[in-house]
Amino acid sequence: MAGNWKMNLNHREANLLIQKLAASLNEQQLTDVETVVLPPFTDLRTVQTLVDGDKLLIGYGAQDLSPHQSGAYTGEIAGSMLAALGCQYVVIGHSERRAYHNEDDKLVNAKVKAALANELTPILCVGEGLDIREEQRQVAYCRGQLDAALAGLTAEQVVKVVIAYEPVWAIGTGKTATPENAQEVCGALRALLVERDGRATADQVRILYGGSVKAANIAGIMAQPDVDGALVGGASLDAEEFAQICRFP
Ligand code: PEP
Repeated sequence: MAGNWKMNLNHREANLLIQKLAASLNEQQLTDVETVVLPPFTDLRTVQTLVDGDKLLIGYGAQDLSPHQSGAYTGEIAGSMLAALGCQYVVIGHSERRAYHNEDDKLVNAKVKAALANELTPILCVGEGLDIREEQRQVAYCRGQLDAALAGLTAEQVVKVVIAYEPVWAIGTGKTATPENAQEVCGALRALLVERDGRATADQVRILYGGSVKAANIAGIMAQPDVDGALVGGASLDAEEFAQICRFP
């Protein structure tokens, strides 16, 4: 279960949320649920200090990275810098970055490779807009995004990627895809992995659903065979709500 904080919370607010989340999670045994937060870059050092200092069972990562290793790229953050801060994950190709920063499939592919080169687990986002959904082209569209993002990767690299299916029309809108909508595309993404790298590889890849996930709707989504977890935006800013999502069953 991964919480995408987006551009919310400064490092002091991050400190409070992590402490509240740790307290909420500690009330229950969550041995088989991996909990991850994805704060803004400026919060990562604070999160690292808390997680290391208190030995918290919370993983963390960033919301983006540069495709480059280092150099004259003002404003960019390299994967090696994130790894040095203890990050295990990095979100790549979120629909907000594709829409507002013109990230295309080629750049997403380069970022996936940059993440893997720095031993970071990419959380690779794919998802269709409302226009594509209305034309019922969501399966072909998302498969196309996934295929392009994984171009040139070996099966050994593909198993290290986490895929997040996030229909754009369901992000931050309060409109959740039905469990059947989520399964349709997540199942098709897994089928693409089977075609690409075989069943054994495909079964090891974790596929998340994202889009207005809340404590009230997580159980139905998690009951789907090809949904292994969730990427949670707004609801991850509330420690108790996110902890409830993590204890979904
Ligand atoms: C997201 O930003 O990845 C997301 C799924 O947001 P929300 O849960 O707020 O729809």
